[in-house]
Amino acid sequence: MKTKKMHNMATTNPKLLSWFASENPLSVFFKILPIVGILVYFILRNFGWGTAHFVCFLLGLFTWSLFEYVFHRWVYHVKFNNENLRWFLESFHIYHHQKMDDHHVLNAGFFLIYPLFLVFFGIVFVLTKDLPQTSSFCLGLIFYYFFYENVHYFLHYKTFKSGYFHFIQKYHLYHHYKNWKSNFGNTTSFWDRVFGTYDVRYKEFSLGTIENSHLISKK
Ligand SMILES: [Zn+2]
Ligand SMILES: [Zn+2]
Repeated sequence: MKTKKMHNMATTNPKLLSWFASENPLSVFFKILPIVGILVYFILRNFGWGTAHFVCFLLGLFTWSLFEYVFHRWVYHVKFNNENLRWFLESFHIYHHQKMDDHHVLNAGFFLIYPLFLVFFGIVFVLTKDLPQTSSFCLGLIFYYFFYENVHYFLHYKTFKSGYFHFIQKYHLYHHYKNWKSNFGNTTSFWDRVFGTYDVRYKEFSLGTIENSHLISKK
């Protein structure tokens, strides 16, 4: 493990990090509940649910699937020159890569979720100038976001023998243990195929003793 060499919030200020991370998806659920409530209120208060809102909702789902790829590849895996930025950013994903048996940073926390939500909400509202449509988009975004958080937590939880979780576990753990430069998708391989970072060798990857010992169920 390279923990000793790491200088980031996870190693220097773990208490502060707890505001930026969540222990599990249930904790995420309670954090996003007020946001979901406000969005549903904005949608229903105006004109109810129509085709335009449904399209915005689907766009929100689609956008998060792309955002998770973009952020993982071009933010989390970039080595920025600014020391403070690295101290902050590397406490999440790079720390997770290097300390696979620490599960405190698997899910995002309050201070990541709320600012990010406000940025998305602000951008979409400026573009649409329509509160219910913006809310529908953000509802789709947050639905997929919650799915993403669940997937990331459970693929690190136990070994899956079949189905979607079997695929995504091999896909994501291949990225962790074998090739940091490929398979950035956390819930789908779609964007890796689009952007040329799809490494099919994940299909031959299987969890060994070390990989198994890092799973949450083995703690
Ligand atoms: Zn992971
Ligand atoms: Zn990564």
